[in-house]
Amino acid sequence: MAQSTKEPYIKEKSQNISLLKKVLYGLCPNCASISIFRYYIKLLDVCPNCGYVINYQKIGDGAAWFTMLVTSIIVAIGVYILEIIFQPDLWVHIIIWFPVIFILSCIILRPFKALLLCISNSSNR
Ligand SMILES: [Zn+2]
Repeated sequence: MAQSTKEPYIKEKSQNISLLKKVLYGLCPNCASISIFRYYIKLLDVCPNCGYVINYQKIGDGAAWFTMLVTSIIVAIGVYILEIIFQPDLWVHIIIWFPVIFILSCIILRPFKALLLCISNSSNR
């Protein structure tokens, strides 16, 4: 009896939460009530709330690919602008852009993983 009352509540709650909120907070694509990340970018195997099995093979390296794409575009534009305005030496570029690449990748990778999981979950329905 408890199962039958809990399940519609979870579906209704999941529909009210936007995709943006699921992606930014790394929430479960099915129930959206708990984070799907065990560590910063390490995913859980199964959602402890709804039992949704997270299939790694569906997202593959897509999140890493999109992270590299977005990071490289941002860094290329930044390098271009910095070079045109200040024309610094090469070591200045290295000191500035290696940490920027690392930090941007760390920031962007997690939302892309969550986004691809949400997209793969919505394509199953
Ligand atoms: Zn869940």
